[in-house]
Amino acid sequence: MLKSLEVSGFKSFAKKTELHFKSKITAIVGPNGSGKSNIAEAFRFVLGEQSMKSMRGKRGEDLIWNGSTETARSNRSRVKLVFDNSKNIFDIDFDEVIIERVVNRDGSNEYYLNSSLVRLKDVIELLSEAHIGASGHHIISQGEADKILSANIKERKEMIEDALGLKIYQYKREESQRKLLKTEENIKQVESLRREIAPHLRFLKKQVDKVERAEQLRLKLSKFYREYLKREQIYIEKSKKEIDNSKNPLTQKLEELDKSMGKAKEVLNTSRNKDQKSEELLDIENKIEKERQNKDSLYREIGKIEGEINANQKIIQKIETDQKSEDNKTVPLKEIEKLEKEISEFREISRIIQRIKDFIESHRTKSDLSTNSGQVTNLSELVSLNNNLEEKKIDMEEKIEESNIYLNKFSFEYQKIKESIEKEKNSGREAERVMFKISSEQSELRGQLNLLEAEIKRIKIIEEDWKREIQEGGVLLGTDILGFENEEILNSEEERAEQEQRRRELEKMKIRLEELGGGSGAEVTKEYRETLERDEFLEKELEDLKKSADSLEILIKELIEKLDIEFKEGIEKINKTFQEFFILMFDGGNAFLKIVKNEKKRSIISEFEDELVLRSSDEIQNEMETGEQNKIETGIDIEVSLPRKRIRGLEMLSGGERALTSIALLFALSQVNPPPFIILDETDAALDEANSKKYGDMIESLSKVSQLILITHNRETMSRAGVIYGITMGRDGSSRLLSIAFDEAVAVAK
Ligand code: ATP
Repeated sequence: MLKSLEVSGFKSFAKKTELHFKSKITAIVGPNGSGKSNIAEAFRFVLGEQSMKSMRGKRGEDLIWNGSTETARSNRSRVKLVFDNSKNIFDIDFDEVIIERVVNRDGSNEYYLNSSLVRLKDVIELLSEAHIGASGHHIISQGEADKILSANIKERKEMIEDALGLKIYQYKREESQRKLLKTEENIKQVESLRREIAPHLRFLKKQVDKVERAEQLRLKLSKFYREYLKREQIYIEKSKKEIDNSKNPLTQKLEELDKSMGKAKEVLNTSRNKDQKSEELLDIENKIEKERQNKDSLYREIGKIEGEINANQKIIQKIETDQKSEDNKTVPLKEIEKLEKEISEFREISRIIQRIKDFIESHRTKSDLSTNSGQVTNLSELVSLNNNLEEKKIDMEEKIEESNIYLNKFSFEYQKIKESIEKEKNSGREAERVMFKISSEQSELRGQLNLLEAEIKRIKIIEEDWKREIQEGGVLLGTDILGFENEEILNSEEERAEQEQRRRELEKMKIRLEELGGGSGAEVTKEYRETLERDEFLEKELEDLKKSADSLEILIKELIEKLDIEFKEGIEKINKTFQEFFILMFDGGNAFLKIVKNEKKRSIISEFEDELVLRSSDEIQNEMETGEQNKIETGIDIEVSLPRKRIRGLEMLSGGERALTSIALLFALSQVNPPPFIILDETDAALDEANSKKYGDMIESLSKVSQLILITHNRETMSRAGVIYGITMGRDGSSRLLSIAFDEAVAVAK
């Protein structure tokens, strides 16, 4: 329910002016030009009217109090409309709904809903729920009494749709349609995105398949590689051991042979010393010869000595025999002379005597015989000579003995050398034979060792290849290769050819892997995953979009059906009331609304560009079916026939008849879907007294469903109002409001 209107700085209302609508019918009266119509326009303004023309202005500024000689102009104009929402005519949770609009001199507008700044759209949406639509069918300005009659079929249709509260559905349908268009655009976009992605995705898929194949091959190759390496290791180790086993005895044997050869050589060398030995032999022979001669001479010497000894012995025997007759002893003169000399030196006669006695004694034992040397010696001399000879003889015998020892020794040596020469002669021949044998054995062994060396070289090459293979495998397969030593190998005693076959297979696999791109492919996989995710996301998006497009289409279809049904039903209802009011006004006759269709050429594109244009359900249905083809424009025609008159059609009506028909239709519209209030600005101007009465009756019945604000000069109309506001024009050119009684009102109106 409408509570109040507050205007300040709006048109002629310079000061803040407040109108309260406590009554069902409020009349606004006043002289011409006092500002009554400005009130109706204030309503249009605050309800969001965008057409300046319908507010009798050119620019926003025209709506602002322009000032006078006495009162300064305003900077902005402000209109505030207050509704009682205790019965929830608006779908918001407030007991009071305050709609406010401000226009500034720069033409900018502000809208407030319960003091919060909102958009125009919010205001329009809220109002349409309460059947206060944009077409303003419930505000009939001055001179617009027959607005609904003079409108074209399309405008009329819009007014009726508005009155029927269908605008909200149309708005929803339009919005759904815009959403549908947007959704279809999005679908196209997403589809084109998917189309764009598709080849890349296919390419990536191929790559990923390749990567997967490579991965499988890599796994297979790793296993194969490890087995190969392990087998190779086994082979190398086994071969080395075998070589060692064969080589060791051979080298040992060769060493032994070398030693034997050395010995044999030595033997041979010694046998080559036999010349030296022959010399030695000669030397010994000489020595023996000499020793024999020496021995012979010794024998001869001994014989001589023995002869002398025998001769001396014979003499000694004679002397001894002789000595037995001392008397015949002779003393040589010389000895006597010698004795005389000795004694002469002695003074003592006792010593002389003694000496003489000794002398005699010595001569007693002495022989007088001469020796073989012809010398005649005495016995003692002879004996001593013989003793000496004896000694000499013994000496000689010893020498012979010695000589015998030498001779023995020499002949032993001689024998030995002789034997050794003989022996060496034999052993030299033996050594030569042995050496020949050793040499052939050696060359045999060396041959075998050479073979082994070749084998060692071969294994070494295999081992190097194996090591290289490990490295290569590491580079190609990374850590997968490690630990091949732990690989368990069945049947390790296979033919080498099998391993060689394995190696060829390995090479083939390596080449295949390289062809597949040996890399890990992590990046490709990542990109594929991301692209696939994106594609799946788009697919899902597309699905969602199609779903929402489907549901939008369904919604639009439902809305179209609903609009169609409600429109047709609404027209029927309106026609019923219209007929009643018409008959009431004209005491008979016939009037009704008719849905008409005009063909019109128009393209969807131009239609869609102008989003504000609201189209009928039929149009849209038609558009959806025919696309860009010729459009059918649906509208509403009015058929009237007055009682007792032949005339048909609106054109034939008089001014009063038009006014009455229009009022009848307006009231019919308002009865079907009543707006909270209706403003009628001098709609009653053309009525005569009788018709004014009928008009007054209709107003009263209408006020039961909608609050009425009537700008009027009509006395009858004033009489039906509960509250009358008088508006006067002040000296300063601004409008003033006063609450007045009916009598005053009649006076003011005049
Ligand atoms: P009638 O009975 O003849 O229809 P009315 O009471 O409806 O007259 P209005 O048409 O509402 O009178 O008022 C028009 C008056 O408002 C004019 O005098 C006009 O000069 C004045 N007016 C309109 N706009 C402005 C403005 N922006 N500033 C000041 N005065 C204005």
